[in-house]
Amino acid sequence: MLSVPGSFSIAKSSHIKKASQLAENAEIAEPDSDSPISEQIRSAHSDRDRSRHKLIKNRERQDVSLNTEDENHLLENARVIATEGAYFVLRANDGSDIRAKTYKGTRASNPNSTLVAVGDEVRVSLKDSEHTMIEEVLPRRTKLSRRAAGTGLAFEQVVVSNIDMLVIVASVSEPKLRSGIIDRYIVAGLDGGLSIAIAINKIDLASPEEMDEALYFRDLYEEIGYRVLLVSAENGSGIDELRKVIEGKTSVFAGHSGVGKSSIMNAVFGREVGKTGTLQKKFRRGAHTTASTTLVEVDNMPGTFIADTPGVREFSNFELDTHNLKFAFIEFLPFAEKCAIRNCSHIHEPGCAVRQAVEDDKISIDRFSSYQKLFEEAKTEESKRINNQ
Ligand code: GDP
Ligand code: ZN
Repeated sequence: MLSVPGSFSIAKSSHIKKASQLAENAEIAEPDSDSPISEQIRSAHSDRDRSRHKLIKNRERQDVSLNTEDENHLLENARVIATEGAYFVLRANDGSDIRAKTYKGTRASNPNSTLVAVGDEVRVSLKDSEHTMIEEVLPRRTKLSRRAAGTGLAFEQVVVSNIDMLVIVASVSEPKLRSGIIDRYIVAGLDGGLSIAIAINKIDLASPEEMDEALYFRDLYEEIGYRVLLVSAENGSGIDELRKVIEGKTSVFAGHSGVGKSSIMNAVFGREVGKTGTLQKKFRRGAHTTASTTLVEVDNMPGTFIADTPGVREFSNFELDTHNLKFAFIEFLPFAEKCAIRNCSHIHEPGCAVRQAVEDDKISIDRFSSYQKLFEEAKTEESKRINNQ
């Protein structure tokens, strides 16, 4: 078993689809048929490997047990814990870290998405100590995704996969607390199947007005059902509570640049880890220069992992959808049942019970404003998608 939480199902060959778009620096994955996976992997190997397989086949005729042994050696499960240039750093079953690459034969189960993301479980072929190839990326259980910038068509960029919890980090000041970004992340977290907690940082800096505001937002989000912690990475308050919230889980901290994500990570660890020093020395070289995500196990908390994501600065939600967006605002739902029109978008329809609830102060105007803003964004995206078809 892997030393990380979460169980992964092994993909059946019929579920493995072509990855139409790829991670940075990765080569194109082109599965040629729906033949059994072992056959696909074999056919994708180089000529040298083919002849090696011929040898194995010949041996197979003589001794069946030898073949089984070799197949076990050929494929092994591992989890991607970091990227390093064109390479991925994998945590193998025995807890050791290895470096691997994708190639033309790499099979992905997550179409129109990042080919290999940190957090993914993969199957690798161990050719020799120098060359480990990622043969197959298994389906993602959960994920935090964003829309890749600059692409005409919507392309899902997976920040990190197979995690349990999204900890949305905001700060009381520097930068000022804004619920818009929190709501944007809540939508992304719910879309990706994550549980959600909110950490409001820098309470040591809060003026009385800023503290009032922090308490207002704490009550608002707690009432909706999300755990909210007031913390200070600077003086350590709330950090023990945060440790309890993430214990035994794999979490990702996300939020605006400067809110204190890496400082909080350092406070949780009690040492420097955020943005630096999270990788074994031998893998550090490339990870520093590129904005890459790293999965780190918290000291003295076995099974507790944090995804260090220095790359999440700007965040656009992946594939916002005007029909589904309202379901991410879970406190609207009891009112939505009373809207005059079925499938009411709560934007313009007459007799809208959600807008009435906003007027009656039963739904927060901040949350409704976030909904309106994201709805407009979803509409723009949808028309772009139609134009691109
Ligand atoms: P990130 O971009 O979200 O990772 O933010 P950093 O962790 O790099 O922090 C940004 C700045 O805020 C740094 O100068 C930190 O020292 C400072 N900072 C972070 N947390 C706190 C805090 O709890 N209180 C105070 N006063 N400053 C903090
Ligand atoms: Zn409505």
